Amino acid sequence: MAELGRWTQAARGGLDTDTGRGAVVPPIYLSTNYTFLAPGEPREHDYSRSGNPTRDVLNDALATLEGGAGGVSVTSGMAAVTLVVEALVPVGGRIVAPHDAYGGTWRLFTMLADTGRIRVDFVNLTKHDDAARALDEPTDLLWVETPSNPLLRITDIAATAKLAHAVGAKVAVDNTFCSPLLQQPIAHGADIVVHSTTKFIAGHSDVVGGAVIASDAGDHETLVHWANALGLTGSAFDSYLTMRGLRSLDARLRVHAENAEALVDVFDGHPAVMALHYPGLPDHPDFELARRQMSGHGSIITVELVGGRDAVSHFLDGLQIFHLAESLGGTESLICHPATMTHAAMSAAAQSAAGIGEGTLRLSVGLEGRDDLIAVISEALERVG
Ligand code: PLP
Repeated sequence: MAELGRWTQAARGGLDTDTGRGAVVPPIYLSTNYTFLAPGEPREHDYSRSGNPTRDVLNDALATLEGGAGGVSVTSGMAAVTLVVEALVPVGGRIVAPHDAYGGTWRLFTMLADTGRIRVDFVNLTKHDDAARALDEPTDLLWVETPSNPLLRITDIAATAKLAHAVGAKVAVDNTFCSPLLQQPIAHGADIVVHSTTKFIAGHSDVVGGAVIASDAGDHETLVHWANALGLTGSAFDSYLTMRGLRSLDARLRVHAENAEALVDVFDGHPAVMALHYPGLPDHPDFELARRQMSGHGSIITVELVGGRDAVSHFLDGLQIFHLAESLGGTESLICHPATMTHAAMSAAAQSAAGIGEGTLRLSVGLEGRDDLIAVISEALERVG
């Protein structure tokens, strides 16, 4: 029998699993309770926080796509980050994390460090020497986010995982920007993969969710146990919507990328653009690594405009199609000003260390017509000057 590729597995996720009635698309199980056969004799499911058939379908699909032992779907990407810390990092344990992690992750780790729950060191993981220095002492968890949000820096998963494993740390990779169709961290040595499924996986900006996939069955069991104990597991309805999005992920990613590449050409070399960050550009500092590690370049583009905040105002003033909003990975194009939006929780010093400036804009390129996208971005750049 033919072994089905990841793209087909994503498109067919969960289909034809309803053995009772033969529904092609499995139904949503909204019931919170399941009857016991007798006292002490539960069926496969007893209570929806602990286990739910609709969530199981999503968990299995994500574990298959990431090549993991199992998946746990939770209520948000931040719930996924919380779950990894609570389940796998002991009290007072040490985390090494990227200096330009997503602002919410940065805030959570900083708050947990302030209360003494963990110790955290933020490091530029794209610099091998810095990563090696940070991972030269006992560490419980290496947190990797690649490409990073918003500057799209690429961390070498295999190389940093080797350093982390040598000091006994587990390696978690936030794979939100790629989804399992563009990057599979476990194949590069990661122990844990984290997603904000809110983004590309669900893909329609109508559900907030997260997931944690473990490569090791023991870690998976620990995560399942903690997700139930903490009450982080995702709802049946959100799981259903996320699963529906997952089936069109490959098709969406291809159009997202085509449109993003067209806009990269518009930004590239324009006098209003001081810096252009996109891992598919041959002059991106980690172009070769991105090619090795990812099977596409994604559809997030970050630009630094000449003229800082004023330039941002001119660019956004009258900008069509793109909504000024946080989040990314939906069918619609979005634009965000990280310094005041997604990364506002970071201190000014941390923003500056991460390279986020007043003139930085992050674009999530949607599925609209390519020519229209080119036209509106070209007009916006002319407004900047
Ligand atoms: N990780 C990354 C890379 C993100 O961009 C985000 C949100 O933007 C999160 C995690 C948090 O996800 P959520 O908003 O679903 O909690």
